[in-house]
Amino acid sequence: LKERKLIVQIIPFENRRQILVTHDATESDRIDMMRRDFIANASHELRTPLTVINGFLEIASSQPNLDPAVRMSHLKLMTEQGQRMQNLVEDMLTLTRLESIDYPLRPERVNIPVLLEQILQEARAMSAGRHQISLQVDGPDLKGGTEELRSGFANLVLNAVRYTPAGGRIDIRWEMGASGPQFVVQDTGIGISAEHISRLTERFYRVDKGRSRETQGTGLGLAIVKHVLLRHGATLGIASQPGQGSVFSVHFPMHAVLAPLQ
Ligand code: ADP
Repeated sequence: LKERKLIVQIIPFENRRQILVTHDATESDRIDMMRRDFIANASHELRTPLTVINGFLEIASSQPNLDPAVRMSHLKLMTEQGQRMQNLVEDMLTLTRLESIDYPLRPERVNIPVLLEQILQEARAMSAGRHQISLQVDGPDLKGGTEELRSGFANLVLNAVRYTPAGGRIDIRWEMGASGPQFVVQDTGIGISAEHISRLTERFYRVDKGRSRETQGTGLGLAIVKHVLLRHGATLGIASQPGQGSVFSVHFPMHAVLAPLQ
């Protein structure tokens, strides 16, 4: 049995009687801790690129006659770090919006073939010819939030590109499964060992920090995926074998299916 934290208050009441008020603070303590962790992680993630940018700015102002080639390389590094901060802030805003009751899901018809074709183009641009990427669409349209699903699906597909060495394959499928439509991304990449799998959707959880940063990862992609899926009543399946590859599959309920347009 897990330890629980109970707050007990004794309030004096008329006639020498007392009222005992108890309040279970276990859950609010847990949420508080998660919030503190999130702020600590986010601050840490932002501090590293800021330190780099500030360092180069200091060099630029103290050494005005710096060799132009060196200056160019500093500018390039600063641009990369600026991009990293921008990705991070955007992912944090996306997560906040997905969790907020002020942004309820407004279901609409999601044109799956168009959406997945756009994501395929994005993946091919990122891969720059280093992978074989295929798309097979053989399922119905969906009732959901197009932009949210774009973000969820794109995160899975772009991860496959980022964690698959050159020469690998990435297969994307939209198909009808036994319990409803499913979106499957299969790669022949580095894979994930079993002890990490259940923690992948935690914010800022990464198997290999260096590799994630090298490829402009924020560590928030799968947390975003998890929230998008929660809002759609969908579930995420992950099967992986280190050194062999991974399969990320998203399972939607049957009631999310829309009949084809006439
Ligand atoms: P990141 O921005 O670091 O990619 P994510 O939340 O998208 O963050 O993913 C969390 C971690 O899960 C990654 O850092 C990586 O270690 C692992 N991961 C995600 N997708 C894959 C994949 N297709 N193959 C191997 N590892 C993956």
